[in-house]
Amino acid sequence: MNLITPIFKTPSLTACFTTRHGGISKTPFDSLNLAFHVNDTPNDVHQNHLLLAKELGYEANTLIYMRQIHSDSVVIVNEMMDFNSPPQCDALITNRPHVPLMVMSADCTPILVYDSTHNAIAAIHAGRAGALNEILPKTLEAMKAEYGTTVEDVMVFLGPSIQGCCYEVNETIARETVEKGYTEALRRDETKVFLDVNTILLQQLHSLGVKKENIEVVNHCTSCQCDTYFSYRADAHYTGRIAGVILLR
Ligand SMILES: [Zn+2]
Repeated sequence: MNLITPIFKTPSLTACFTTRHGGISKTPFDSLNLAFHVNDTPNDVHQNHLLLAKELGYEANTLIYMRQIHSDSVVIVNEMMDFNSPPQCDALITNRPHVPLMVMSADCTPILVYDSTHNAIAAIHAGRAGALNEILPKTLEAMKAEYGTTVEDVMVFLGPSIQGCCYEVNETIARETVEKGYTEALRRDETKVFLDVNTILLQQLHSLGVKKENIEVVNHCTSCQCDTYFSYRADAHYTGRIAGVILLR
């Protein structure tokens, strides 16, 4: 299985981003699609989850994923949740060991957060809407309220996502981006305007005071590299989902 792991490693943490390789789903979900909601064969998706769980060393039914809705909603994982009852939100936080958290994406930025001081983690889904609505700062606020997490404590990993080279947006979105203070995330050529969501996320982390050395970015464009990742735009909307997984041991 072809996984992307952060440079930062510790025995108490597992964190990685998947690629589209290493599963059993058929075209256009080939092959490691982890999402049930995209019309892939449910049994294939389930087998892919079992393969990933075996690779990373957890029980597949202990994993919590999200019914993602491009919101700014952060949910604290509780004992009632399991694999079969994913909460509707775009960020999950926990300090419980042996509970893997998953964010899925195909162009949006999957984000994993680790607070080594308080042993707390987060998985965040940040597309353009989530980033502009500050899902990342809101998740860090929730971790502070729940676990005492400060910006000095966190390591932040931004996974593969569509970048400013490929993400064309309309003028309404461009205007909203400027109004919210993220002009630097926009790039114009003669006729088109492009948005780089990671620039927004990095600006937010910088404003909060998260140090550069505690941020790791996988600078792979999912659209440019759609043979390695699923891309909602490059694959004409009908495609699978990669995932970010984070787990305390
Ligand atoms: Zn690109």
